[in-house]
Amino acid sequence: MTQPTEAEAGPSTITIVNRNGSKKRLHTEDNMAGGERRSSVSKPARDFRDKPEPSPPKKKKKRKSTASGPSGVATPTPAEVGSAVETPITRSPSPVIDFDGLSRPSLGTRERLEEDEASRENRLERMKSAVRTLLECVGEDPDREGILATPHRYANALLFFTKGYQENVRDIVNGAIFQENHSEMVIVKDIEVFSMCEHHLVPFTGKMHIGYIPNNAVIGISKLPRIAEMFARRLQIQERLTKEVANAIMEILKPQGVAVVMESSHLCMVMRGVEKTSTTTITSCVLGCFERKEKTRNEFLSLIGVNRR
Ligand SMILES: [Zn+2]
Repeated sequence: MTQPTEAEAGPSTITIVNRNGSKKRLHTEDNMAGGERRSSVSKPARDFRDKPEPSPPKKKKKRKSTASGPSGVATPTPAEVGSAVETPITRSPSPVIDFDGLSRPSLGTRERLEEDEASRENRLERMKSAVRTLLECVGEDPDREGILATPHRYANALLFFTKGYQENVRDIVNGAIFQENHSEMVIVKDIEVFSMCEHHLVPFTGKMHIGYIPNNAVIGISKLPRIAEMFARRLQIQERLTKEVANAIMEILKPQGVAVVMESSHLCMVMRGVEKTSTTTITSCVLGCFERKEKTRNEFLSLIGVNRR
């Protein structure tokens, strides 16, 4: 089973925006969501993701000239040249959707998905006794009337918070991909997202904006929030959640490009640690034409209104 690695997945930016408007960059690898001004207006915008469009006709000419090169030099066969030239330099999206559509499955994921009634009961009992231990450890009396049923309630709540482990992209999409000669940007914005930080097991909540440019196929519009929901209802970090949603749409729909931006507030930051109550964390992942073309990316950003700050 393959798991997406950091190297395979898309670029992401984190910008911490305080209420007073000051911004703190965590990752400086790109500056899309940060909206920082360039110091020079005379120079054109430069972004490492803006790659020139591939031009196949030129390559053909090159191949001919190579073939008629000086003798004595080993001339590659047309097939070799072809494969070397055609290999795209762009990152391939990580294989988020496995053969069974589970995406990022682990041993426990499969167990949970395929369990029968007896093992479901057993799972609940184990969770309840673990919560009871937690209550004891924080200094509570687990037999106190008010919290007597808390282990049961919390176990069920936690299973709900992580119900995404029992879902897969294939069932969610369920064939709702339609051939349509439409190549304009489609955006679903302000998708409410509730997820759980995998480092502290506390929620982070916010909004996700998803945009894509179709390649002769569109996806049922309600499927985008459902894909977001599926990945959010797992233990997550925001950076990975953003990438997984983008890569899943890229893989299942094969559009010209996908852009996902998420802004959210982390309870582990708000309630503990740095205790910054007004910070928003923004992550983004752009693939395909959104990665290559600054204009497309900017159109998406202005339509979702992230630049409004
Ligand atoms: Zn956390």
